[in-house]
Amino acid sequence: MLGERGADVTIFEKETFLGGRAGAWTETLEDGTSFEMERGFHAFFRQYYNLRALLRRIDPDLSMLAPVPDYPICGPHGSESFAGLSKTVPLNVAQLALRTETMRWRDLLRVNVRAAMAMLAYDQDEVYRRYDGMSAAGYLDSLRFPPRARRMLFDVFSHSFFNPEEEMSAAELLMMFHFYFTGNPEGLLFDLAKAPFSTALWQPLAKKLEADGVRINMGCPVDAVVRREDGYAACGENFDAVVLALSVEPLKALVANSPTLDDDGFRRQVATLELTRPFAVWRMWLETPVEPGRAPFVGTTGVGILDNISVYELFEDESADWAERAGGSVIELHAYSVPPEMDEAAIKNDLLRGLYALYPETETIAVREERFLLRRDCPAFAPGSWRDRPTVTTGHSDLMLAGDFIKLPIPSALMERAAASGFIAANQILAKRGVRSEPIWSVPRRGIVPPNLLSVPGKARRRSMQ
Ligand SMILES: Cc1cc2nc3c(=O)[nH]c(=O)nc-3n(C[C@H](O)[C@H](O)[C@H](O)COP(=O)(O)OP(=O)(O)OC[C@H]3O[C@@H](n4cnc5c(N)ncnc54)[C@H](O)[C@@H]3O)c2cc1C
Repeated sequence: MLGERGADVTIFEKETFLGGRAGAWTETLEDGTSFEMERGFHAFFRQYYNLRALLRRIDPDLSMLAPVPDYPICGPHGSESFAGLSKTVPLNVAQLALRTETMRWRDLLRVNVRAAMAMLAYDQDEVYRRYDGMSAAGYLDSLRFPPRARRMLFDVFSHSFFNPEEEMSAAELLMMFHFYFTGNPEGLLFDLAKAPFSTALWQPLAKKLEADGVRINMGCPVDAVVRREDGYAACGENFDAVVLALSVEPLKALVANSPTLDDDGFRRQVATLELTRPFAVWRMWLETPVEPGRAPFVGTTGVGILDNISVYELFEDESADWAERAGGSVIELHAYSVPPEMDEAAIKNDLLRGLYALYPETETIAVREERFLLRRDCPAFAPGSWRDRPTVTTGHSDLMLAGDFIKLPIPSALMERAAASGFIAANQILAKRGVRSEPIWSVPRRGIVPPNLLSVPGKARRRSMQ
């Protein structure tokens, strides 16, 4: 955006590949095939309006993405589907509640309707004021859903944000419900990248940036930023404005190492940021294919730490080529919020148990090759963290933050939050210079139920104890 509008822009990227946590780099299999390894499957939801506006710059029809026909949730006792649901709230919620086999009528009568209303009554100020101090687990308990229904309908939501329920803010979970389901006019389905992220997204985006005159310095970490009278200095160069689009730990390290960024409020906010638990991504090249009819992607629940299974040759060109040549399958298993005491061997055992339970044919298939990543760099959204969460603007003029952990005025998460925060940061810089800004898109900012109908967490319990 800045480059498009004539600004002289330089990007410093620590890694030798673009894309950060959604990046990809080249590796070689033992048979000599080179492939793009990623930090795992990513879903491109239809309400990622700002991310899509970014991607449309390189592919106006978004032909790099393909829709998934369904987003099933599989557990040991069956599966749940989000396909065919109305896009209208609350019709979609009612359809899901009525068609799920995990709830009977008498279960529905036990549900705490007032607490459940919070899923339809999103209002940023109210929801964070009332629910940020509560854990997502506490909120989900308060709904009184039967355990199986809770697992099938809610585990996937809470797990998808990498934070364990007990350590995640209920307000953040409610924002996610609104953003992904109850306030999402696009439906819960999503699209997938048809090619590795490097070839589908980052290489074309890099070309576009360079065409706009943007300099990209790869393998160039920025260790510190120095505030000057008339702007900032980093890596020996001077700049009028800076956007720090880093993940949590590098941002904390950079600020700690930049004493001239001396606004106390800003430093305190950055210092409050934390990481959540590690996640694991395990990609395997199998000798023979998985059963026909397997979905490209399934969310999983009730099978240990396994959170999802992807069958890559069903959607990604590079894996499809390999699978055809080798007559096998390329699958990927994810586990989020991995208990810190689990080592690689324990994680792999647990993931395999889950895979065999749901895709029994894989138990006898030999693994020709594998890549396993165990990383810890996703942001925590702990109860009570909203108040001090940093915003795009900081205590320093023309020093902006962007990333998936930044407090935004719109409901948004993950890649979309990263893209939207980047757009907002660029708009701030442009507005100050009287240059046309970029529209920021959002799902409706409020739910369909007035927020004054929200129950006050804890009140019902206190009353019953009197
Ligand atoms: C396994 C997994 C699955 C996921 N699935 C999904 C999904 O399905 N849908 C979804 O929307 N999101 C998903 N996400 C989340 C998504 O990847 C992130 O929300 C998003 O990529 C965050 O982008 P970001 O720009 O905030 O941060 P990052 O991508 O972390 O970007 C930060 C960049 O800063 C660079 N950097 C760090 N330090 C320095 C320094 N000192 N100097 C210069 N550069 C530096 C890094 O190399 C990186 O390129 C998933 C994440 C993981 C790990």
